[in-house]
Amino acid sequence: MESKKRVVIVGGGAAGIFAAALLGETTSNLEILVLEKTRQLLSKVRISGGGRCNVTHSQFDPKKLTASYPRGNKELLGPFHRFQPQDTIAWFAKHGVELKTEEDGRMFPVSDHSATIINCLLDAAKEGGVEIRNEHGVRSVERTNNGFRLHLDNRDPIECHALILASGSSPNGHELAASLGHTIVSAVPSLFTFNVPSSPLLDLAGIAVPDAELSLKSIPFRQRGSLLITHWGFSGPAALKLSAWAARDLHACNYRTDLHINWIPSHKQEDIFQDLLTKKRQKPLKNLEHENLYLLPLNLWKRLMTLSGIPFNSSLGHVPDKNLKLLSEKLTQSCFAVEGKTTYKSEFVTCGGIELKEVDFKTLESKVAPHLFFAGEILNIDGVTGGFNFQNAWTTAYLAASCIADRFR
Ligand SMILES: Cc1cc2nc3c(=O)[nH]c(=O)nc-3n(C[C@H](O)[C@H](O)[C@H](O)COP(=O)(O)OP(=O)(O)OC[C@H]3O[C@@H](n4cnc5c(N)ncnc54)[C@H](O)[C@@H]3O)c2cc1C
Repeated sequence: MESKKRVVIVGGGAAGIFAAALLGETTSNLEILVLEKTRQLLSKVRISGGGRCNVTHSQFDPKKLTASYPRGNKELLGPFHRFQPQDTIAWFAKHGVELKTEEDGRMFPVSDHSATIINCLLDAAKEGGVEIRNEHGVRSVERTNNGFRLHLDNRDPIECHALILASGSSPNGHELAASLGHTIVSAVPSLFTFNVPSSPLLDLAGIAVPDAELSLKSIPFRQRGSLLITHWGFSGPAALKLSAWAARDLHACNYRTDLHINWIPSHKQEDIFQDLLTKKRQKPLKNLEHENLYLLPLNLWKRLMTLSGIPFNSSLGHVPDKNLKLLSEKLTQSCFAVEGKTTYKSEFVTCGGIELKEVDFKTLESKVAPHLFFAGEILNIDGVTGGFNFQNAWTTAYLAASCIADRFR
């Protein structure tokens, strides 16, 4: 009888363990081995989503789903037609884990514990006969006639017929891929909040504006959505998304640039000015503080009045037109000097990794080295916050595992 073919997966994170579990449950003729350099498996799954694990996002339209990936949006369209959040939900349900959806679309296990996801993945791997070796860091790799030989510190080399690199953003994993001929796009941080030490709004920390539009000086990205004023600058979905899309440009300018905020993107500045003039004509005795026309949080409205040189207690009739003009400008194009970044809730996401042109996105196989596959964050793919990074791990792991299962069937 022919001996079993061996598949090695480097990395015991979300992508690696999911690929191993899928191979285990869909094949019987493969020896599946996961090599993890640390003592712990799925360590990021454990801490993700504040310990609750934001498994995926309830966006089921592949095209719309790709819009949440600053890097990888074109490449993931095909893969999402084959394995998307609905498939993630179905896979976990089949393995006894129900997911629930929060108002903003993020999906968590009903238990609200990441341990539920960890146990589920590890049980599925065990059930499929996967062998997992902790503290087995792969140091280097070479090609052989039949596949690959992996070198580890103080251990015998391990040979395999197919190799999945699922080593996340670890530079070590990138070196392995580079040694097999791959180009590595340099890593830079993605998904962070903006530091604006000179912001006149810092003491308003905690105020959230549901619909603001953000843009950056000389960087062609803008984002619209909820914005949070913080003790150090700005956060919230609009800021985080902008940081992800503009990650490379912001890195290039050392996180120093001008941030423009339109607090009322639904209205044009000139129309706002005309509205204020009309109010002044109609209600000259009213105090502008009580005429919060666009229903901004009151303290923010008052602060923007102050910054426009309008005292709270002056009646509208006494406010010069030029100050109303200034207020309309502050409302639509406030400018803040960004002087750095802060990691969002310790959620370190990097952009960079394996150059996507060198990967076949039907199979996640390398176009450079046959039988070499990639899954998860090792690729130059990253999503905005909300469960998209894990979905990338599930989807790419699924395609890699499906191809390997078919090839050796
Ligand atoms: C604090 C935090 C919170 C997050 N929260 C969320 C969230 O809620 N939702 C979401 O979608 N995303 C979240 N993310 C991002 C998400 O965790 C990652 O995108 C995802 O874990 C990537 O999975 P991966 O398997 O590709 O890589 P990883 O999870 O990084 O796993 C890679 C594994 O490979 C191992 N490894 C590396 N090199 C070697 C080697 N040479 N030999 C052997 N093993 C090696 C590593 O030790 C690691 O265990 C969060 C990230 C962080 C840091």
